[in-house]
Amino acid sequence: MSALVLDGRAVAAAVKGEVAAAVSVLERPPGLATVLVGDDPASAAYVRGKRRDAAEVGIASIHRELGADASQAQVEAVVAGLSGDDSVDGILVQLPLPGGLDAEAVVERIDPAKDADGLHPLNLGRLVLGRPGLRPCTPTGIVRMLDHHNIAVSGKRAVVVGRSFLVGRPLALMLSEKGADATVSIGHSRTKDLAALTREADIVVSAAGRPGLITADHVRPGATVVDVGANRGPHGLVGDVAFDSVKPVAGAITPVPGGVGPMTRAMLLVNTLRAAQARRGR
Ligand code: NAP
Repeated sequence: MSALVLDGRAVAAAVKGEVAAAVSVLERPPGLATVLVGDDPASAAYVRGKRRDAAEVGIASIHRELGADASQAQVEAVVAGLSGDDSVDGILVQLPLPGGLDAEAVVERIDPAKDADGLHPLNLGRLVLGRPGLRPCTPTGIVRMLDHHNIAVSGKRAVVVGRSFLVGRPLALMLSEKGADATVSIGHSRTKDLAALTREADIVVSAAGRPGLITADHVRPGATVVDVGANRGPHGLVGDVAFDSVKPVAGAITPVPGGVGPMTRAMLLVNTLRAAQARRGR
């Protein structure tokens, strides 16, 4: 048996088509503001990609760049300014911020109604409460990709490896909330015998940022394996999953690149559209 490879680029293209269609009927295009602080080449490349995606679907982009020496007050002032700018529907602050800056305090300056990344405490709180709100892009992209491939979640055992507020914890909440109905465990760096835990799972999601963490030994035959890892090394971008050895065991698997990454980017556009629609009373 060899796993079905879940093509994130194809699903993302379908999602982008839906966003473009919805944008085309708005009186004016939604505006997505990106904030880049410092000179990290990877962050700059991510922001360029997000702005390109926005242009593809007809979302206007507004861009603010600050030097690596920007102060906390300067960064917060830029974000507060965008929050108060009526032409801006979504705001994305590219993380991580340079050392010394308090990213949480910056994110708290985003108007929660414009929180395109879904990381404002109000939106994360709504997620905990099971109430509607803007949700983090990577977890929503994963749920969307599973749904697109008719991979049932309800009643299944899922293990999420990683407990960050960006991916692991919100994903565990989404998979276990009413309507999704998976039974979810969270693994982390202190988990004893991770392989024994993940082998119990119908769905394994790895968001640890550790290349080669998930091997064939971690996967029950037929399980779905979602690789969130985006690790840059001498061989380019690699995930957390030892793809070649896991693929023959799994039932379905996401590749890196071309799996979760494109879905994350597509969900940023979905969130921007939803924010624009909500702000315009649609
Ligand atoms: P993070 O904040 O560093 O969190 C990593 C989590 O993994 C932590 O909870 C950590 O446990 C756990 N962990 C680390 N080593 C482990 C091990 N050996 N065994 C079990 N758990 C382990 O990272 P993040 O922001 O969530 O990102 C995770 C990965 O996903 C990174 O590679 C990142 O680049 C990638 N990512 C990809 C996308 C995408 O769109 N493809 C989006 C976001 C992130 P502790 O809590 O105990 O330290």
